[in-house]
Amino acid sequence: MTRVSDPIIAMRVHVLRMPTLATHAHGIGDVSSFDTVILELKTSSGITGWGEASPWPVFTGTVEASVAALHVFMRPYLMGADPCLVEKHLAAMDRMVVNCTEAKAAVEMALLDIMGKMSGLSVGDLIGGRCHDAIPLSFSVANPNYDLDRETVKEFYARNIRIYKLKAGFASHEFDVMRLQDLRNTYGSEIDLRVDYNQGMHAYEAIRRLKDLERFDLTFIEQPVPRTNIEAMARITQAIDTPILADESVFGPRDALTVVKM
Ligand SMILES: [Mg+2]
Repeated sequence: MTRVSDPIIAMRVHVLRMPTLATHAHGIGDVSSFDTVILELKTSSGITGWGEASPWPVFTGTVEASVAALHVFMRPYLMGADPCLVEKHLAAMDRMVVNCTEAKAAVEMALLDIMGKMSGLSVGDLIGGRCHDAIPLSFSVANPNYDLDRETVKEFYARNIRIYKLKAGFASHEFDVMRLQDLRNTYGSEIDLRVDYNQGMHAYEAIRRLKDLERFDLTFIEQPVPRTNIEAMARITQAIDTPILADESVFGPRDALTVVKM
């Protein structure tokens, strides 16, 4: 067996609760704080790599599952391992525990962080270098109290933010239409407007209601119906001119291929 020059010798898992600035309502539940898992891996030479798992119980999984996956399954494997064999470790973790994609992502991030620090490169440069020096930011219009969101959008617009994603399907259809109408009336075509239902619609009402939204010239409509109902996603895509985006329906390349084939 070859000797690992700078093996992983320690691992700590931190759980943080972070409040959001405002309540965000979604088709599958409200959010006023995020629980997040911060992973810290240390090598024998003292390099620390950081990673984060940020699950959401109604969407991807729980903090408890991420923490258990890290402590019970991944810790024994990672101790003494070569931090530079990222792909090998990811394949091994897929074999040792099913799903838990956030925990695996945290390990990948922490390993890449270590490699970056070893080589003197940012993780961005390490995995191919950047294509842009800046990225446009998006604000989610998701407060059940729209008056508060209206003020926030005004502030952000003044700060040159032009992408707004309306979280829909958590209250009435009329509330969604009213907010879209108000944003288009106020900002016209100056803003890039998209809608995310987070699975909040019933398949039987989706096409009729989404046709109502086409006049708002949306960039896309995201995940209108529950994630497993990809047949309905396909039917909606055929019936509506606005592009339909699959979010919760896609958790990996295999899911993406299934959705594309539909
Ligand atoms: Mg989404």
